[in-house]
Parts: sequence; structure tokens; C-alpha cells
Amino acid sequence: MAAWNAQSVRKDFVLLENTDRVYFDNAATSQKPQAVLDATREFYEKYNANVLRGLYPLSVEATERYEQARQTVRQFIHAACPEEIIFTRNTTESMNLVAYSYGMANLKAGDEIVVSILEHHSNLLPWQMVSKATGAKLVFLECEPDGTISAEQMDAAFSEHTKLVAVTQVSNVLGCVNDIPTLVKRAHDCGAVILVDAAQSAPHMAIDVQQLGVDFLAFSGHKMLAPMGIGVLYGKRELLEAMPPFLTGGEMIESVSRYDAIYAELPHKFEAGTVNAAGAVGLAAAIQYLNTLGMENVHRAEQELTAYLIKGMQSIPHVHLLGSARPDNHTGIASFTVDRVHPHDISEILSSDGIDIRAGHHCAQPLHQHLGIPSTARASVMFYNTVAEVDRFLESVANVRKRMGFGDE
Ligand code: PLP
Repeated sequence: MAAWNAQSVRKDFVLLENTDRVYFDNAATSQKPQAVLDATREFYEKYNANVLRGLYPLSVEATERYEQARQTVRQFIHAACPEEIIFTRNTTESMNLVAYSYGMANLKAGDEIVVSILEHHSNLLPWQMVSKATGAKLVFLECEPDGTISAEQMDAAFSEHTKLVAVTQVSNVLGCVNDIPTLVKRAHDCGAVILVDAAQSAPHMAIDVQQLGVDFLAFSGHKMLAPMGIGVLYGKRELLEAMPPFLTGGEMIESVSRYDAIYAELPHKFEAGTVNAAGAVGLAAAIQYLNTLGMENVHRAEQELTAYLIKGMQSIPHVHLLGSARPDNHTGIASFTVDRVHPHDISEILSSDGIDIRAGHHCAQPLHQHLGIPSTARASVMFYNTVAEVDRFLESVANVRKRMGFGDE
């Protein structure tokens, strides 16, 4: 039993405390607790210097804090060593790093890249680029309407030509959780490497990269209480060591001559230019905050609130929930449509009731095409959201059609 609840943690979130609005766009970005704001501010007030460059105490201290943050991230996802943690700007940059460095160097015509139809554009467009540049073919793992990828769909996508698999752990539209252990096994049985997009899973569930056996895993700090502009790429050490740098320039070299350079060891080989040290420190503070709550407790609280939300939506006439009918397969996400009401109108009406949700294709156009729906409205909750907020949301959704001028039919 957790020693906290949504009500008791809300005092940690200044923005939430100072508004009457209901923030249900957490899948886009989370709110930030005071501990994260303080850690970021403290870095600039007490330790600000360029990391890894100066030999004077301030720079040494800044570097120590940056490297401590790497250790915190390593422990959070159970990576074997800090060299396997690369700081990036966000999930998008992490996945582009794998595409441009690993993909361009290792894929060729005749090879196949398997992506799922559930992917966010940031785990699709880099692979479209690699496919065009190398001649490797892009192959799609299809899914059922509830997001499930069946064994038959896997059989159809995987072959001896599969060399790279890029899949999301949690869909940002359906909220469903992909069976990563099975996908890892399938990928490895083909001799392929697998990249997992953890943008929507890392904030909500405990992740153990060694237990999962993934080769690469990407996530963003800003979706898990940390500042914007800091992200993570996990990669198995032997893979990262063999990969060429993605970006080149300062801080990622051992030595440079006129026509050549010797690159730095991991992880700095992949961290060219001045890094976001304050962001990394903020991410470490966010992880410490989550660890204090306990990821199991966070997960359980979010599952309970999601179940309440989903069941409420399922009882409103003319509302159609996307994805699984099972609330436990929604990871805080409820995408929906309302008969004869455009999702932008749903969002406008909810906004006028003080409720912030998202409407559109959620950077997942191929999934919407697959489902035959141009766009959806999406509510996404986090552990700091309350039952009272869900009640306000449900009441507003129940009134959408009336507000649009439809009768009770
Ligand atoms: N992957 C998924 C599943 C997402 O939901 C998102 C963002 O919404 C991203 C990737 C991209 O994250 P970022 O914009 O932080 O790079």
C-alpha cells in the first residue's frame, strides 16, 4: 500500500496547485515537481560551468553532477554500466542516433527493417530515411484494432532478411503494451537487433533493459517529470562501441589532426557539443522523485485511475473508445471519438470546461489510416490526477453532443 495518493502529491506540482484546469495531456508532456525545478535551478546557481572541459573546481563539480545523473539513469533502467547511457535531447534524437549511426552503417539492399504500424512518427521517419538511403526494405508489423500484435502477424513480418526491429513498448494512441520479451526473442532469432521506443512506458512502469534483453531503448525526460530537452538512449555496450558517431564536433574526441580524428570512448563519443547538464541533473531529480513514490505504486495508481476513466467512458452513449476494451491495457491513455463530432470540437468543448486534452493524429498517421479513423481525441492521465478530475472530464464528454446541438437520439 502506497504512503501517498494523488491528492497528497499534488502539492509538489506548483502548476497544478495554481490552476483549476484539469491537465489530461500527460502523454504529450508531464508536469514537473518542485524537486525537479529546484535541482535544475540549483545547478545553474551553484555548479554552472561547461562539463568535461575545465580543470577548475566549478567545471569538475558540474561534470561530477552530470555523471552522477548518468548513474541514476543507469540504475533506473538497470543498464549494466554508465557507458551504455547516452544523453540526447529526447526520444526522437535517440532513435535518429540509432538510425543514422547503426542503420546507415549496417543495413543494405536485401535487408529488412521491421516497424510496427503503431509507431509514433519519430520511430518511423528515421527508418524511412534509412530505407531510402540503403535500399533496405521497410516491413510493417500489423496489429489488431485493440493494438495486439498476433503471432501470425509476427510470422508475416519477420524473416531471415530481418536485420533491425524498431517497436514501441506502449502506443501513444491506444495505450496498449506490446509484448517486448516476445518481440526481442523473435528479433534475435532472426539475428536482428531491436530498438524499443519507451517514450510512453518509462514514465509509467519499471523497466529492466537487461531482463528485457533489448539492444537499444529510447525515452524522453519531459514525459517523466524532468525538464524538456533531455532524453536517453540506452544501447548495449558492444553495439555502441562498434557504431560510428552520429554528430561530430567538440567533446566527442580523443584527438584531432588536420584530416582525421580519434573519437572519445563511450558514452562521450555520442555526446557532441555542449551537453544539457542541467537537464540531466533535472532528470536525475525526477527519477529520485519517482523512486520515492515507487514505480510499482505509480503504475498501480495510474492503472486504477485509468480503469475508472475507461469504465466511465464506456458507459457514455455515442462515445467510442479506441484500443482494448480492457482498462488494464491502456497505460493512462484513452483515445476516443464521439459520433458526428470532430475531435477538434471535442477538444474545444472540453477546453471551455477547463479540461486540457489532445486532438488530432497524435503523430501516428499510419496507425489512424490502419484503423480507418482520420483523427481522435485523447485524454491521458498520470499519478497526480484525481478521481474528481476524471469525474469532471466524464461529465464534459457526456455533454459534448448536446453542446454541438444534437438531441438525445
Ligand atoms: N514515441 C512515442 C510513443 C511518443 O509518444 C512520443 C511523443 O509523444 C515520441 C516518441 C517522441 O517524443 P519526443 O517528442 O520527446 O522526442
